[in-house]
Amino acid sequence: KSRTPGEIEFHQAVHEVVESLLPFLEENPRYKTAKILERISEPERILIFRVPWVDDKGEIQVNRGYRIEMNSAIGPYKGGLRFHPTVNLGILKFLAFEQVFKNSLTTLPMGGGKGGSDFDPKQKSDGEVMRFCQSFMTELCRHIGPNTDVPAGDIGVGGREIGYLFGQYKRLRNEFTGVLTGKGAEWGGSVIRPEATGYGNVYFAEEMLKTKNDSLKGKIVTVSGSGNVAQFTVEKVNELGGKVVTLSDSSGFIHDPDGIDGEKLTFVMRLKNIKRGRIEEYAKKYGVGYYPNKRPWTVKCDVALPSATQNEINAEEAQILIDNGCICVSEGANMPSTPEAVDIYLENEILYGPGKAANAGGVAVSGLEMSQNAMRLSWTREEVDNHLKRIMKDIHTACVKYGKSSNGFVNYVNGANIGGFVKVANAMIAQGVV
Ligand code: NDP
Repeated sequence: KSRTPGEIEFHQAVHEVVESLLPFLEENPRYKTAKILERISEPERILIFRVPWVDDKGEIQVNRGYRIEMNSAIGPYKGGLRFHPTVNLGILKFLAFEQVFKNSLTTLPMGGGKGGSDFDPKQKSDGEVMRFCQSFMTELCRHIGPNTDVPAGDIGVGGREIGYLFGQYKRLRNEFTGVLTGKGAEWGGSVIRPEATGYGNVYFAEEMLKTKNDSLKGKIVTVSGSGNVAQFTVEKVNELGGKVVTLSDSSGFIHDPDGIDGEKLTFVMRLKNIKRGRIEEYAKKYGVGYYPNKRPWTVKCDVALPSATQNEINAEEAQILIDNGCICVSEGANMPSTPEAVDIYLENEILYGPGKAANAGGVAVSGLEMSQNAMRLSWTREEVDNHLKRIMKDIHTACVKYGKSSNGFVNYVNGANIGGFVKVANAMIAQGVV
Protein backbone atom coordinates (compact mmCIF):
# COMPACT_ATOMS: atom_id res chain seq x y z
CA LYS A 1 0.00 0.00 0.00
CA SER A 2 2.89 2.37 0.70
CA ARG A 3 3.99 2.01 -2.94
CA THR A 4 0.53 2.87 -4.28
CA PRO A 5 -0.96 5.38 -1.82
CA GLY A 6 -4.62 6.27 -2.19
CA GLU A 7 -5.43 3.57 -4.75
CA ILE A 8 -8.32 2.26 -2.63
CA GLU A 9 -10.12 0.15 -5.22
CA PHE A 10 -6.84 -1.39 -6.40
CA HIS A 11 -5.94 -2.39 -2.84
CA GLN A 12 -9.44 -3.84 -2.41
CA ALA A 13 -9.13 -5.97 -5.56
CA VAL A 14 -5.61 -7.22 -4.78
CA HIS A 15 -6.54 -7.98 -1.16
CA GLU A 16 -9.46 -10.14 -2.25
CA VAL A 17 -7.33 -12.14 -4.67
CA VAL A 18 -4.46 -12.60 -2.22
CA GLU A 19 -6.85 -13.81 0.47
CA SER A 20 -8.24 -16.47 -1.90
CA LEU A 21 -4.85 -17.53 -3.17
CA LEU A 22 -2.85 -17.86 0.06
CA PRO A 23 -3.86 -21.47 0.94
CA PHE A 24 -3.32 -22.47 -2.71
CA LEU A 25 0.14 -20.87 -2.70
CA GLU A 26 1.07 -22.73 0.49
CA GLU A 27 0.28 -25.97 -1.31
CA ASN A 28 2.12 -24.85 -4.47
CA PRO A 29 5.31 -23.12 -3.29
CA ARG A 30 6.80 -22.72 -6.75
CA TYR A 31 4.51 -19.72 -7.30
CA LYS A 32 5.86 -18.12 -4.13
CA THR A 33 9.47 -18.79 -5.12
CA ALA A 34 8.84 -17.14 -8.50
CA LYS A 35 7.33 -14.10 -6.70
CA ILE A 36 4.24 -14.33 -8.90
CA LEU A 37 1.99 -12.33 -6.55
CA GLU A 38 4.49 -9.49 -6.34
CA ARG A 39 4.90 -9.45 -10.13
CA ILE A 40 1.24 -9.93 -11.09
CA SER A 41 0.12 -6.96 -8.96
CA GLU A 42 2.62 -4.59 -10.60
CA PRO A 43 1.52 -3.32 -14.04
CA GLU A 44 3.96 -4.02 -16.87
CA ARG A 45 3.43 -0.43 -18.03
CA ILE A 46 1.26 2.59 -17.18
CA LEU A 47 0.63 5.38 -19.67
CA ILE A 48 -0.81 8.71 -18.53
CA PHE A 49 -1.30 11.49 -21.02
CA ARG A 50 -2.90 14.88 -21.68
CA VAL A 51 -6.05 14.95 -23.81
CA PRO A 52 -6.74 18.51 -25.02
CA TRP A 53 -9.83 19.21 -27.15
CA VAL A 54 -12.06 22.12 -28.17
CA ASP A 55 -15.71 22.25 -27.04
CA ASP A 56 -18.67 23.62 -29.02
CA LYS A 57 -18.14 27.11 -27.60
CA GLY A 58 -14.59 27.14 -28.92
CA GLU A 59 -13.07 26.78 -25.47
CA ILE A 60 -10.11 24.50 -24.84
CA GLN A 61 -10.76 21.61 -22.45
CA VAL A 62 -8.15 19.33 -20.91
CA ASN A 63 -8.73 15.79 -19.65
CA ARG A 64 -6.39 13.05 -18.51
CA GLY A 65 -6.01 9.81 -20.48
CA TYR A 66 -4.74 6.48 -19.14
CA ARG A 67 -3.85 3.01 -20.33
CA ILE A 68 -2.75 0.35 -17.87
CA GLU A 69 -0.91 -2.50 -19.61
CA MET A 70 -1.15 -4.95 -16.74
CA ASN A 71 -0.06 -8.38 -17.95
CA SER A 72 0.83 -9.89 -21.34
CA ALA A 73 1.86 -13.39 -20.24
CA ILE A 74 -0.86 -15.20 -22.20
CA GLY A 75 -1.70 -12.71 -24.98
CA PRO A 76 -1.89 -9.05 -26.01
CA TYR A 77 -3.19 -6.65 -23.35
CA LYS A 78 -6.98 -6.63 -23.57
CA GLY A 79 -9.59 -4.64 -21.66
CA GLY A 80 -11.99 -1.74 -21.96
CA LEU A 81 -11.78 2.02 -21.89
CA ARG A 82 -13.92 3.86 -19.33
CA PHE A 83 -14.95 7.50 -19.80
CA HIS A 84 -16.42 8.75 -16.52
CA PRO A 85 -15.62 11.75 -14.28
CA THR A 86 -14.74 9.38 -11.38
CA VAL A 87 -11.95 7.68 -13.36
CA ASN A 88 -8.56 7.73 -11.63
CA LEU A 89 -5.44 5.59 -11.53
CA GLY A 90 -6.61 3.40 -8.62
CA ILE A 91 -9.90 2.52 -10.31
CA LEU A 92 -8.24 1.67 -13.63
CA LYS A 93 -5.56 -0.41 -11.91
CA PHE A 94 -8.25 -2.41 -10.06
CA LEU A 95 -10.06 -3.00 -13.34
CA ALA A 96 -6.84 -3.97 -15.17
CA PHE A 97 -5.88 -6.35 -12.36
CA GLU A 98 -9.28 -8.07 -12.40
CA GLN A 99 -9.09 -8.25 -16.18
CA VAL A 100 -5.97 -10.44 -16.08
CA PHE A 101 -7.82 -13.20 -14.19
CA LYS A 102 -11.04 -12.75 -16.13
CA ASN A 103 -9.34 -13.01 -19.51
CA SER A 104 -7.47 -16.11 -18.41
CA LEU A 105 -10.77 -17.71 -17.32
CA THR A 106 -12.26 -17.23 -20.79
CA THR A 107 -9.72 -19.80 -22.08
CA LEU A 108 -8.80 -17.37 -24.89
CA PRO A 109 -5.24 -16.00 -25.39
CA MET A 110 -5.67 -12.51 -23.96
CA GLY A 111 -3.56 -10.58 -21.45
CA GLY A 112 -5.04 -7.87 -19.23
CA GLY A 113 -5.31 -4.10 -19.55
CA LYS A 114 -7.69 -1.21 -18.94
CA GLY A 115 -7.78 2.48 -19.70
CA GLY A 116 -9.92 5.53 -20.05
CA SER A 117 -10.32 9.13 -19.03
CA ASP A 118 -12.04 11.43 -16.56
CA PHE A 119 -13.97 12.84 -19.55
CA ASP A 120 -17.76 12.82 -18.97
CA PRO A 121 -19.70 12.08 -22.18
CA LYS A 122 -23.00 13.14 -20.54
CA GLN A 123 -24.47 16.37 -21.91
CA LYS A 124 -21.78 16.53 -24.61
CA SER A 125 -22.69 16.89 -28.28
CA ASP A 126 -21.68 14.19 -30.78
CA GLY A 127 -19.11 16.66 -32.17
CA GLU A 128 -17.54 17.17 -28.75
CA VAL A 129 -17.39 13.43 -28.09
CA MET A 130 -15.79 12.92 -31.52
CA ARG A 131 -13.15 15.60 -30.97
CA PHE A 132 -12.34 14.20 -27.54
CA CYS A 133 -12.04 10.63 -28.94
CA GLN A 134 -9.80 11.84 -31.77
CA SER A 135 -7.48 13.62 -29.35
CA PHE A 136 -7.44 10.60 -27.00
CA MET A 137 -6.55 8.24 -29.85
CA THR A 138 -3.89 10.58 -31.26
CA GLU A 139 -1.77 9.69 -28.23
CA LEU A 140 -3.07 6.17 -27.53
CA CYS A 141 -2.35 4.95 -31.08
CA ARG A 142 1.39 4.96 -30.35
CA HIS A 143 0.94 2.26 -27.72
CA ILE A 144 -1.71 -0.14 -29.06
CA GLY A 145 -2.03 -2.53 -31.99
CA PRO A 146 -3.75 -5.81 -32.91
CA ASN A 147 -0.82 -7.85 -31.53
CA THR A 148 0.08 -5.50 -28.67
CA ASP A 149 -2.93 -4.03 -26.89
CA VAL A 150 -6.56 -4.17 -28.01
CA PRO A 151 -8.93 -1.84 -26.08
CA ALA A 152 -12.74 -2.14 -26.01
CA GLY A 153 -15.68 -0.30 -24.41
CA ASP A 154 -16.74 0.05 -20.77
CA ILE A 155 -18.75 2.67 -18.86
CA GLY A 156 -19.27 5.68 -21.14
CA VAL A 157 -17.66 3.99 -24.13
CA GLY A 158 -20.17 2.31 -26.45
CA GLY A 159 -20.55 1.90 -30.21
CA ARG A 160 -20.41 5.65 -30.89
CA GLU A 161 -17.12 6.17 -29.06
CA ILE A 162 -15.50 3.01 -30.47
CA GLY A 163 -16.42 4.29 -33.96
CA TYR A 164 -14.71 7.65 -33.43
CA LEU A 165 -11.66 6.01 -31.83
CA PHE A 166 -11.33 3.46 -34.62
CA GLY A 167 -11.74 6.10 -37.33
CA GLN A 168 -8.90 8.15 -35.88
CA TYR A 169 -6.61 5.12 -35.44
CA LYS A 170 -7.18 4.10 -39.05
CA ARG A 171 -6.50 7.62 -40.25
CA LEU A 172 -3.27 7.97 -38.27
CA ARG A 173 -1.87 4.51 -39.01
CA ASN A 174 -3.34 3.94 -42.46
CA GLU A 175 -4.32 0.38 -41.62
CA PHE A 176 -7.63 -1.42 -41.10
CA THR A 177 -6.95 -3.88 -38.31
CA GLY A 178 -8.64 -5.37 -35.27
CA VAL A 179 -7.08 -2.82 -32.92
CA LEU A 180 -10.31 -2.20 -31.01
CA THR A 181 -13.23 -4.50 -30.29
CA GLY A 182 -16.88 -3.54 -30.06
CA LYS A 183 -16.77 -2.23 -33.64
CA GLY A 184 -19.93 -1.97 -35.74
CA ALA A 185 -20.95 -5.25 -37.39
CA GLU A 186 -20.49 -3.71 -40.87
CA TRP A 187 -16.88 -2.70 -40.22
CA GLY A 188 -15.17 -5.55 -38.45
CA GLY A 189 -17.31 -5.96 -35.33
CA SER A 190 -18.70 -9.26 -34.10
CA VAL A 191 -22.41 -9.94 -33.80
CA ILE A 192 -23.47 -10.51 -30.17
CA ARG A 193 -20.64 -8.27 -28.83
CA PRO A 194 -23.07 -5.60 -27.54
CA GLU A 195 -25.19 -8.31 -25.92
CA ALA A 196 -22.33 -10.47 -24.63
CA THR A 197 -21.71 -9.19 -21.10
CA GLY A 198 -25.38 -9.13 -20.12
CA TYR A 199 -26.23 -12.41 -21.86
CA GLY A 200 -23.09 -14.04 -20.43
CA ASN A 201 -23.95 -13.00 -16.89
CA VAL A 202 -27.43 -14.47 -17.24
CA TYR A 203 -25.97 -17.72 -18.64
CA PHE A 204 -23.61 -17.82 -15.65
CA ALA A 205 -26.47 -17.25 -13.18
CA GLU A 206 -28.42 -20.04 -14.89
CA GLU A 207 -25.41 -22.39 -14.54
CA MET A 208 -25.19 -21.58 -10.81
CA LEU A 209 -28.93 -22.16 -10.36
CA LYS A 210 -28.63 -25.48 -12.20
CA THR A 211 -26.37 -26.78 -9.42
CA LYS A 212 -29.45 -26.46 -7.16
CA ASN A 213 -31.76 -28.00 -9.77
CA ASP A 214 -33.26 -24.56 -10.22
CA SER A 215 -33.50 -21.98 -13.04
CA LEU A 216 -34.44 -18.36 -13.75
CA LYS A 217 -37.91 -19.32 -14.88
CA GLY A 218 -40.48 -17.53 -12.72
CA LYS A 219 -37.83 -15.70 -10.69
CA ILE A 220 -38.11 -12.05 -9.61
CA VAL A 221 -34.88 -10.31 -10.62
CA THR A 222 -33.44 -6.93 -9.61
CA VAL A 223 -30.98 -5.28 -12.01
CA SER A 224 -29.03 -2.05 -11.42
CA GLY A 225 -27.76 0.29 -14.14
CA SER A 226 -29.54 0.88 -17.42
CA GLY A 227 -26.60 0.92 -19.82
CA ASN A 228 -25.18 -1.71 -22.12
CA VAL A 229 -24.84 -4.54 -19.61
CA ALA A 230 -28.16 -3.89 -17.83
CA GLN A 231 -30.16 -3.69 -21.07
CA PHE A 232 -29.08 -7.05 -22.46
CA THR A 233 -29.36 -8.63 -19.03
CA VAL A 234 -33.05 -7.72 -19.03
CA GLU A 235 -33.46 -9.08 -22.57
CA LYS A 236 -31.98 -12.49 -21.67
CA VAL A 237 -33.77 -12.82 -18.31
CA ASN A 238 -37.06 -12.20 -20.12
CA GLU A 239 -36.18 -14.84 -22.71
CA LEU A 240 -35.50 -17.38 -19.94
CA GLY A 241 -38.81 -16.67 -18.21
CA GLY A 242 -37.69 -14.44 -15.31
CA LYS A 243 -39.16 -11.04 -14.42
CA VAL A 244 -36.91 -7.98 -14.02
CA VAL A 245 -38.49 -5.39 -11.73
CA THR A 246 -35.81 -2.67 -11.35
CA LEU A 247 -33.33 -0.57 -13.33
CA SER A 248 -31.27 2.42 -12.20
CA ASP A 249 -28.78 5.10 -13.14
CA SER A 250 -26.55 7.35 -11.08
CA SER A 251 -29.61 9.50 -10.16
CA GLY A 252 -31.93 6.78 -8.75
CA PHE A 253 -33.89 3.61 -9.51
CA ILE A 254 -37.30 2.60 -10.87
CA HIS A 255 -39.42 -0.27 -9.53
CA ASP A 256 -41.88 -1.85 -11.94
CA PRO A 257 -43.60 -4.80 -10.18
CA ASP A 258 -45.24 -5.91 -13.46
CA GLY A 259 -41.82 -6.48 -15.01
CA ILE A 260 -39.81 -4.74 -17.73
CA ASP A 261 -41.08 -6.56 -20.81
CA GLY A 262 -39.77 -6.34 -24.38
CA GLU A 263 -41.73 -3.22 -25.25
CA LYS A 264 -40.60 -1.38 -22.12
CA LEU A 265 -37.03 -2.48 -22.77
CA THR A 266 -37.20 -0.96 -26.26
CA PHE A 267 -38.24 2.30 -24.59
CA VAL A 268 -35.23 2.07 -22.22
CA MET A 269 -32.83 1.39 -25.09
CA ARG A 270 -34.10 4.39 -27.03
CA LEU A 271 -34.07 6.56 -23.89
CA LYS A 272 -30.50 5.62 -22.90
CA ASN A 273 -28.75 5.00 -26.22
CA ILE A 274 -30.33 7.61 -28.51
CA LYS A 275 -31.92 10.31 -26.34
CA ARG A 276 -29.29 9.81 -23.64
CA GLY A 277 -31.96 10.60 -21.02
CA ARG A 278 -32.46 9.60 -17.38
CA ILE A 279 -34.20 6.45 -16.06
CA GLU A 280 -36.66 8.68 -14.17
CA GLU A 281 -38.47 9.12 -17.50
CA TYR A 282 -39.41 5.40 -17.39
CA ALA A 283 -41.32 6.00 -14.15
CA LYS A 284 -43.20 8.91 -15.73
CA LYS A 285 -44.04 6.96 -18.89
CA TYR A 286 -45.23 3.76 -17.17
CA GLY A 287 -46.57 5.26 -13.90
CA VAL A 288 -44.29 3.26 -11.59
CA GLY A 289 -42.23 4.23 -8.54
CA TYR A 290 -39.02 6.25 -8.88
CA TYR A 291 -36.60 6.50 -5.94
CA PRO A 292 -34.06 9.31 -6.38
CA ASN A 293 -30.51 8.80 -5.04
CA LYS A 294 -31.35 5.23 -3.96
CA ARG A 295 -30.18 1.80 -5.14
CA PRO A 296 -32.55 -1.07 -5.93
CA TRP A 297 -31.39 -3.63 -3.33
CA THR A 298 -34.26 -3.05 -0.89
CA VAL A 299 -36.71 -4.46 -3.44
CA LYS A 300 -37.63 -8.10 -2.72
CA CYS A 301 -36.11 -10.46 -5.28
CA ASP A 302 -34.94 -14.04 -5.86
CA VAL A 303 -31.94 -13.06 -7.97
CA ALA A 304 -29.89 -9.82 -8.05
CA LEU A 305 -27.81 -8.88 -11.08
CA PRO A 306 -25.83 -5.68 -10.27
CA SER A 307 -24.85 -4.12 -13.60
CA ALA A 308 -23.85 -0.49 -12.93
CA THR A 309 -20.53 0.11 -11.16
CA GLN A 310 -18.08 -0.82 -8.39
CA ASN A 311 -19.07 -0.88 -4.69
CA GLU A 312 -22.79 -0.44 -5.37
CA ILE A 313 -23.91 -3.07 -2.80
CA ASN A 314 -22.72 -2.57 0.79
CA ALA A 315 -23.05 -4.89 3.80
CA GLU A 316 -26.38 -3.47 4.88
CA GLU A 317 -27.84 -3.91 1.39
CA ALA A 318 -26.40 -7.45 1.11
CA GLN A 319 -28.13 -8.33 4.39
CA ILE A 320 -31.41 -6.91 3.11
CA LEU A 321 -31.09 -9.03 -0.04
CA ILE A 322 -30.59 -12.17 2.07
CA ASP A 323 -33.41 -11.28 4.51
CA ASN A 324 -35.71 -10.80 1.52
CA GLY A 325 -34.97 -14.33 0.31
CA CYS A 326 -32.45 -13.63 -2.48
CA ILE A 327 -30.72 -16.91 -3.43
CA CYS A 328 -28.35 -15.74 -6.14
CA VAL A 329 -26.19 -12.65 -6.84
CA SER A 330 -24.37 -12.65 -10.17
CA GLU A 331 -22.25 -9.63 -11.08
CA GLY A 332 -22.58 -7.98 -14.49
CA ALA A 333 -20.57 -5.01 -13.19
CA ASN A 334 -16.98 -5.17 -11.98
CA MET A 335 -16.63 -5.47 -8.18
CA PRO A 336 -20.15 -4.11 -7.45
CA SER A 337 -20.20 -5.72 -3.99
CA THR A 338 -18.01 -4.37 -1.19
CA PRO A 339 -15.79 -6.93 0.61
CA GLU A 340 -18.21 -6.84 3.58
CA ALA A 341 -21.15 -7.59 1.27
CA VAL A 342 -19.25 -10.54 -0.22
CA ASP A 343 -18.59 -11.90 3.29
CA ILE A 344 -22.34 -11.85 3.95
CA TYR A 345 -23.11 -13.79 0.74
CA LEU A 346 -20.47 -16.38 1.61
CA GLU A 347 -21.54 -16.74 5.26
CA ASN A 348 -25.09 -17.38 4.07
CA GLU A 349 -23.84 -19.74 1.34
CA ILE A 350 -25.98 -18.25 -1.41
CA LEU A 351 -24.99 -18.61 -5.06
CA TYR A 352 -22.57 -15.73 -5.62
CA GLY A 353 -20.88 -15.21 -9.00
CA PRO A 354 -18.12 -12.55 -8.78
CA GLY A 355 -17.73 -10.22 -11.74
CA LYS A 356 -14.44 -11.59 -12.94
CA ALA A 357 -16.20 -14.87 -13.73
CA ALA A 358 -19.81 -13.83 -14.29
CA ASN A 359 -19.21 -10.86 -16.61
CA ALA A 360 -16.40 -12.42 -18.67
CA GLY A 361 -18.77 -12.95 -21.61
CA GLY A 362 -18.06 -9.46 -22.96
CA VAL A 363 -14.34 -9.87 -23.22
CA ALA A 364 -14.81 -13.44 -24.44
CA VAL A 365 -16.77 -12.22 -27.47
CA SER A 366 -14.17 -9.47 -27.89
CA GLY A 367 -11.64 -12.30 -28.14
CA LEU A 368 -13.85 -13.92 -30.77
CA GLU A 369 -13.99 -10.58 -32.61
CA MET A 370 -10.15 -10.57 -32.67
CA SER A 371 -10.17 -14.10 -34.12
CA GLN A 372 -12.70 -13.13 -36.80
CA ASN A 373 -10.65 -10.01 -37.68
CA ALA A 374 -7.46 -12.05 -37.95
CA MET A 375 -9.20 -14.52 -40.29
CA ARG A 376 -11.07 -11.73 -42.10
CA LEU A 377 -14.44 -13.42 -41.78
CA SER A 378 -17.62 -13.04 -39.74
CA TRP A 379 -19.44 -15.74 -37.86
CA THR A 380 -23.24 -15.88 -37.56
CA ARG A 381 -25.22 -14.93 -34.44
CA GLU A 382 -25.83 -18.55 -33.72
CA GLU A 383 -22.15 -19.47 -33.94
CA VAL A 384 -21.05 -16.62 -31.66
CA ASP A 385 -23.86 -17.24 -29.16
CA ASN A 386 -22.95 -20.94 -29.00
CA HIS A 387 -19.30 -20.03 -28.32
CA LEU A 388 -20.45 -17.59 -25.61
CA LYS A 389 -22.64 -20.21 -23.93
CA ARG A 390 -19.84 -22.77 -24.02
CA ILE A 391 -17.30 -20.32 -22.60
CA MET A 392 -19.61 -19.29 -19.72
CA LYS A 393 -20.20 -22.95 -18.97
CA ASP A 394 -16.46 -23.64 -19.00
CA ILE A 395 -15.82 -20.71 -16.66
CA HIS A 396 -18.47 -22.08 -14.33
CA THR A 397 -16.85 -25.52 -14.43
CA ALA A 398 -13.43 -24.01 -13.62
CA CYS A 399 -14.93 -22.11 -10.66
CA VAL A 400 -16.51 -25.30 -9.32
CA LYS A 401 -13.23 -27.21 -9.81
CA TYR A 402 -11.18 -24.74 -7.78
CA GLY A 403 -13.89 -23.42 -5.43
CA LYS A 404 -15.80 -26.44 -4.13
CA SER A 405 -15.39 -26.92 -0.39
CA SER A 406 -15.69 -30.16 1.57
CA ASN A 407 -19.37 -29.54 2.45
CA GLY A 408 -20.21 -29.15 -1.26
CA PHE A 409 -20.62 -25.35 -1.13
CA VAL A 410 -19.01 -23.66 -4.13
CA ASN A 411 -17.04 -20.54 -3.23
CA TYR A 412 -16.98 -18.95 -6.69
CA VAL A 413 -14.62 -16.20 -5.45
CA ASN A 414 -11.90 -18.71 -4.69
CA GLY A 415 -12.78 -20.66 -7.80
CA ALA A 416 -12.44 -17.65 -10.11
CA ASN A 417 -9.28 -16.34 -8.48
CA ILE A 418 -7.41 -19.65 -8.48
CA GLY A 419 -8.82 -20.74 -11.86
CA GLY A 420 -7.74 -17.44 -13.43
CA PHE A 421 -4.36 -17.37 -11.70
CA VAL A 422 -2.92 -20.77 -12.64
CA LYS A 423 -2.60 -20.28 -16.39
CA VAL A 424 -1.10 -16.78 -16.11
CA ALA A 425 1.29 -17.82 -13.33
CA ASN A 426 2.50 -20.87 -15.26
CA ALA A 427 3.10 -18.71 -18.34
CA MET A 428 5.03 -16.17 -16.27
CA ILE A 429 7.25 -18.88 -14.83
CA ALA A 430 7.85 -20.37 -18.28
CA GLN A 431 8.80 -16.96 -19.70
CA GLY A 432 11.42 -16.27 -17.02
CA VAL A 433 11.94 -13.16 -14.93
CA VAL A 434 10.46 -10.51 -17.24
P1 NDP B 1 -22.74 1.98 -19.52
O1 NDP B 1 -22.00 3.27 -19.54
O2 NDP B 1 -23.41 1.51 -20.73
O3 NDP B 1 -23.81 1.99 -18.33
C1 NDP B 1 -23.42 2.23 -17.01
C2 NDP B 1 -24.67 2.29 -16.16
O4 NDP B 1 -24.28 2.32 -14.79
C3 NDP B 1 -25.49 3.54 -16.40
O5 NDP B 1 -26.83 3.27 -16.14
C4 NDP B 1 -24.89 4.51 -15.38
O6 NDP B 1 -25.77 5.53 -15.00
C5 NDP B 1 -24.64 3.59 -14.21
N1 NDP B 1 -23.51 4.10 -13.43
C6 NDP B 1 -22.26 4.37 -13.86
N2 NDP B 1 -21.50 4.87 -12.87
C7 NDP B 1 -22.31 4.93 -11.80
C8 NDP B 1 -22.12 5.35 -10.48
N3 NDP B 1 -20.93 5.84 -10.06
N4 NDP B 1 -23.19 5.26 -9.63
C9 NDP B 1 -24.38 4.78 -10.04
N5 NDP B 1 -24.63 4.37 -11.30
C10 NDP B 1 -23.61 4.44 -12.16
O7 NDP B 1 -21.66 0.90 -19.00
P2 NDP B 1 -21.71 -0.69 -19.10
O8 NDP B 1 -23.12 -1.17 -19.03
O9 NDP B 1 -20.85 -1.10 -20.23
O10 NDP B 1 -20.92 -1.10 -17.76
C11 NDP B 1 -21.59 -1.40 -16.53
C12 NDP B 1 -20.68 -2.22 -15.64
O11 NDP B 1 -20.37 -3.46 -16.29
C13 NDP B 1 -19.33 -1.59 -15.28
O12 NDP B 1 -18.94 -2.00 -13.98
C14 NDP B 1 -18.39 -2.22 -16.30
O13 NDP B 1 -17.04 -2.21 -15.87
C15 NDP B 1 -18.95 -3.63 -16.34
N6 NDP B 1 -18.58 -4.41 -17.51
C16 NDP B 1 -18.92 -3.98 -18.77
C17 NDP B 1 -18.57 -4.74 -19.87
C18 NDP B 1 -19.03 -4.39 -21.25
O14 NDP B 1 -18.88 -5.23 -22.13
N7 NDP B 1 -19.58 -3.21 -21.49
C19 NDP B 1 -17.77 -5.97 -19.72
C20 NDP B 1 -17.57 -6.38 -18.35
C21 NDP B 1 -17.94 -5.60 -17.31
P3 NDP B 1 -25.51 7.02 -15.55
O15 NDP B 1 -25.86 6.98 -16.97
O16 NDP B 1 -26.39 7.86 -14.72
O17 NDP B 1 -24.04 7.30 -15.29
